[in-house]
Amino acid sequence: MGKNWYEGKKIKYAEKVKRLMSDPKEIRNVGLLAHIDHGKTTLSDHLLASGGVIADQFAGSALYLDYLEEEQKRNITIKTSAISLPIESVDGLYLLNLVDTPGHVDFSGKTSRALRLMDGCIIVVDSVEGVMAQTRSVLRLALEEWVRPLLFVNKVDRLLKLALSGGSIQQRFEEIITDFNHLIEIFGASKQEEWKVDPLDQQVLFGSALEGWAFSLPQLLNKEMKFKDIRDLYEDSPQHLRETFPLRGLLPETIYRNLPSPVNAQGYRLPKLWQDKTVPPETRACKEGLTLLYVSKTTPKAGRIFITGRVFSGTLRKGELYNLRSGEKKRVEGVSMLLGDKREVVREIMPGNIFGAFLETKSGETFANRKVPGYFRFPFYTPVPVIYQAIEPLETHKFNTLLIRLKQKTIEDPNLSVRVSEESGKILLGGVGELHLELALKDINDDIKLYVSEPKVAYRELLEVGTVVRKRNLLVRIKAAALNEHTSKIIRNKRIENHIHIEGFSEDKRVQLHESIQKNLMSGPIAGVPIIGAYILIRKQESKQISLNTCLNAFFDALASSQTGLYEPVYKLNAFTDTENLGVVQMEIRRRGGTIETIQTRAGELLRIEGSVPVRQSIGLASEIRALAHGSIDLQLKFQGYKQVSEEERRKIIEEISSKISSI
Ligand code: GDP
Repeated sequence: MGKNWYEGKKIKYAEKVKRLMSDPKEIRNVGLLAHIDHGKTTLSDHLLASGGVIADQFAGSALYLDYLEEEQKRNITIKTSAISLPIESVDGLYLLNLVDTPGHVDFSGKTSRALRLMDGCIIVVDSVEGVMAQTRSVLRLALEEWVRPLLFVNKVDRLLKLALSGGSIQQRFEEIITDFNHLIEIFGASKQEEWKVDPLDQQVLFGSALEGWAFSLPQLLNKEMKFKDIRDLYEDSPQHLRETFPLRGLLPETIYRNLPSPVNAQGYRLPKLWQDKTVPPETRACKEGLTLLYVSKTTPKAGRIFITGRVFSGTLRKGELYNLRSGEKKRVEGVSMLLGDKREVVREIMPGNIFGAFLETKSGETFANRKVPGYFRFPFYTPVPVIYQAIEPLETHKFNTLLIRLKQKTIEDPNLSVRVSEESGKILLGGVGELHLELALKDINDDIKLYVSEPKVAYRELLEVGTVVRKRNLLVRIKAAALNEHTSKIIRNKRIENHIHIEGFSEDKRVQLHESIQKNLMSGPIAGVPIIGAYILIRKQESKQISLNTCLNAFFDALASSQTGLYEPVYKLNAFTDTENLGVVQMEIRRRGGTIETIQTRAGELLRIEGSVPVRQSIGLASEIRALAHGSIDLQLKFQGYKQVSEEERRKIIEEISSKISSI
């Protein structure tokens, strides 16, 4: 490791980071994940102290990341989503990019987008409480993103204070490790089986983040000690234990040795995360060449958008980049390293690193310096909202402030949508689920008092049969993007979006036509809900003059003789529970009109249930099913697609929609 340049010199923090950035083999992109209160913030303080960001004596009590959160609330700094830390370990100096994750998993993609910046993570588990619901959720998301987990068994001081025998302590550790590995077996792909943590390989640490000590099994074996000796040492003096097993040295060493560098990780991660068969080879290898970056997070800042992202290959410099999905060229400014509550503008960021910059975009986007096929998958991306609420400020003069705040949120979170209803003038906020909307409104509610309607389902009219209208020199064709014979099945993402092609018109007329058509597609003929799955072509002979009105009328004619069907959004349901609760869980899913496709036992007693449930009947499902199963269930609902509404339900739903439109 290149540490000679550093030895004996007093080099500034920023300078150290800058130097370390150039060797991706010596970088570790890591995050800490945990069930609430298991000690994530306390443990990350120790890493911040190792990196020289906070003074040693404050670690464990400074709660630096929380402090940043407070700062953010007061709009003083940009909250860092990651901090670059130069870390001195027994193996030499390396760069640790510590990535922050949201406090709770909300399944709107935020946690997954943060995970994409990491290659490895440490999952903190309270030794007394053991593996809890949120531990399961974060581990599952980490595995989905191909982020390698290690285990930190925390609050061992609590366990020692319970005055257990050495044998009982060992048994407790074994239980936690078994539970943890069991989950890797269940959630992980077969190739991830080798990620099961082995305490003998230093993949599990046991300690107290609060008191600043931790040990690994190889350390104990080296010293010929047993768990009983730890207990005795602790009883003698906790200070002595801290001196014998300082957390500060062990944690950075474990990260460096057991978690992959971007060079190692990108080789297997890219094929899983990239939306095209061919992954650019330099990106897989984390090398120079094509500059490719991923935007994990966006924060509005003084009229501009500040992004946090990762350079997967090539070197990022100030200038222009392509947005790979839209093909648009955007300018990137203020490229910077993230140094705690400061950021330092730099000339370039090398591959494998995390950076900040100003760039006009949304979270989850992919940028490159030339066009390449594909882009980074959207982990929880829903192209259209499946559920929405009508929102009004109690004080009407706050309407515009509210609208601006909500629009900013849609930039940070691409799964949220905002529009003003033409019928009622109220703001319609759309999202992927009830919890998603609730969280989006949480901090707004603190300073703008809101009236919020019940959550409503976003129904759609799917274009089923198209038409062609020909007038002199003009052709209007409407086609169904989804095939008719598939209508009994669930229609998925690709076939949902509308495609509008306009040929032979000047640029400004094309834009006007496009806007008018899009507006008209917002209200279908059956129930007045947006039309999806339409392929629209409007072609005019270039040399001929045709008025916009004539074109639009031809489009209305075509739309009037096309046919749509009423569709409702459906969630894919993925749940884990035990045999004891299987009966009640199944019953509740069926009672809500859901279907169960498979029930699998993959390991031990835990069962995996896969199926689907209409969004319409899912409101309150998560909390109800958790109560029925006495908390012993991990339920995930993700948007799957649209299903045709049955004949019997059609009239009821249309009535419900029309009464809703008049009421909101
Ligand atoms: P987070 O919600 O996972 O970020 O948890 P925090 O780091 O905020 O810790 C939650 C609470 O547990 C705080 O009161 C900490 O002081 C306490 N705590 C953290 N680590 C330990 C530990 O190792 N032992 C004990 N006894 N308490 C701890």
